[in-house]
Amino acid sequence: MSIKDNLLRIKSQLPENVILVAVSKTKPVSDLMEAYNAGQRIFGENKIQEMTEKWEQMPKDIQWHMIGHVQTNKVKYMAEYVSLIHGVDSLKLLQEINKQAAKHNRIIDCLLQMYIAEEETKFGLDEKELEDILHIVQNDKLQNIKVVGLMGMATFTDNQTQIKMEFLNLKSTFDKINSLSIVNYQLSIISMGMSGDYNLAIECGSTMVRIGSSIFGNRK
Ligand SMILES: *Cc1c(COP(=O)(O)O)cnc(C)c1O
Repeated sequence: MSIKDNLLRIKSQLPENVILVAVSKTKPVSDLMEAYNAGQRIFGENKIQEMTEKWEQMPKDIQWHMIGHVQTNKVKYMAEYVSLIHGVDSLKLLQEINKQAAKHNRIIDCLLQMYIAEEETKFGLDEKELEDILHIVQNDKLQNIKVVGLMGMATFTDNQTQIKMEFLNLKSTFDKINSLSIVNYQLSIISMGMSGDYNLAIECGSTMVRIGSSIFGNRK
């Protein structure tokens, strides 16, 4: 199957309200261009330097999503162009994004990453930390960022019941935050689901799936 075939097949199966992020990390620009020519405009990368190199080379109507863990000192390299940062897991990072976005007169959309897995190696906030950050966002009026939703990664396991439970946890946190109205608007995005579990994620309420290998093939 070609990249184009993979992409069109997956797209045709997604519900209308679910946004597809084509995760192109480690793949060459020629592969990304195949997806672009098949209509894809949202690409996800996990390294800022790699994303920036691709941004420089590729058409400017692409929306670049940073899906990896972000180091505070590297935010400046993507502040000019990044359209959504998925993995925000601290107030300090959010404040730095705000500062760098201001330099470019932009508002950068962010997702707060929640810790839903049973793996020490994964990053993310718990519910208390999430609420604390949202209160500060609301009161400090960080003008150059907007928290538009939540992101989570399930445990790397074959146990579908466990993955489902983790996704449902994220969905219930999302619903709770919206019902509490800590910020004066509704969060709209739940970014959850990858190649192996996106159907389950959608069943559990995902509105944004991050799919790499099912589109571009396995990574080395
Ligand atoms: C690599 C990656 C993906 C895509 O993974 P696939 O299994 O290739 O679909 C999704 N989300 C994040 C955060 C990733 O790092």
